[in-house]
Amino acid sequence: MTRLIDGKKISASEVEQLAVDTRQFIAESSVTPGLAVVLVGDDPASQVYVRNKVKQATAAGFNSTEHRLPEETGQAQLNALVEQLNSDPSVHGILVQLPLPAQLSEPEIIRLIAPEKDVDGFHPQNVGALAAGNAELIPCTPMGCMIMLRQTLGDLSGKHAVVVGRSNIVGKPMAALLLQANCTVTIVHSRSQDIEAICRQADILVAAVGRPEMIRGSWVKPGATVIDVGINAVESGGRRRLVGDVAFNEVSEVAGAITPVPGGVGPMTIACLMKNTLTAARQQISV
Ligand code: NDP
Repeated sequence: MTRLIDGKKISASEVEQLAVDTRQFIAESSVTPGLAVVLVGDDPASQVYVRNKVKQATAAGFNSTEHRLPEETGQAQLNALVEQLNSDPSVHGILVQLPLPAQLSEPEIIRLIAPEKDVDGFHPQNVGALAAGNAELIPCTPMGCMIMLRQTLGDLSGKHAVVVGRSNIVGKPMAALLLQANCTVTIVHSRSQDIEAICRQADILVAAVGRPEMIRGSWVKPGATVIDVGINAVESGGRRRLVGDVAFNEVSEVAGAITPVPGGVGPMTIACLMKNTLTAARQQISV
């Protein structure tokens, strides 16, 4: 019987603990952690993500501010807002919701956010620290995957982890964290050959591709732990539903443990954003 890795439950307990840690931090420092979330434009999915992030931040006991800018915002206007947040001592974490409208440069904004307030962990300084194995602010989705893996498997040392996807926000930081946890790590991507055979060698298989149900049951080693990062909206029978990058029904016949979509990696990502915000506040206040 496969074990379901319940991201909702794990994230709820992470947020509960975080609220306790936050109360203690506030009592010791008299500072309330502040998270500023910036949303440019009207993308419906981004609006939902931002709403959830602000809601969770408030539940964790943070001051949370939402900054909405219109779709046609120019680079100078967005840069000015980020610079203002950088120099605001009540803001400890800044998140600019991606993707940005096409006229705006994501790399420019990511570089502009003060590294100590970069709760997404995307600033080059934080990316470098992650590669060197000493990062404090770690990209939220891979951090959430690691928490779930440690709760499921305990020590990850020596396990063969295969990461499908090499994006800067998921695949690459995921591989770096698995390496840091002493896994043997293989990354596969759209130019890799014989992906199925490589996946079949995985004790830990992380799918971050963005292709609905690409990973089939026959790609998975019996007993493997499967983490499905993918969130894909598909139409079936006239209804829209979310599926992952893993064919859940097939793979759960083979895997030892698996995350569902929705209710797996997604809730963990938001919980880890809150963890990063408290970490950022701690570092800035030095409690
Ligand atoms: P990207 O599109 O940035 O990256 C996808 C990666 O998959 C690329 O490295 C690409 O390879 C690789 N890829 C594409 N097609 C194939 C293929 N046929 N075989 C092997 N590799 C392939 O996506 P993200 O990393 O941003 O996101 C991945 C998924 O995770 C999406 O569904 C996204 O919605 C979801 N997501 C979920 C989050 C959560 O909180 N649960 C957070 C972030 C993302 P190449 O580099 O060669 O192009």
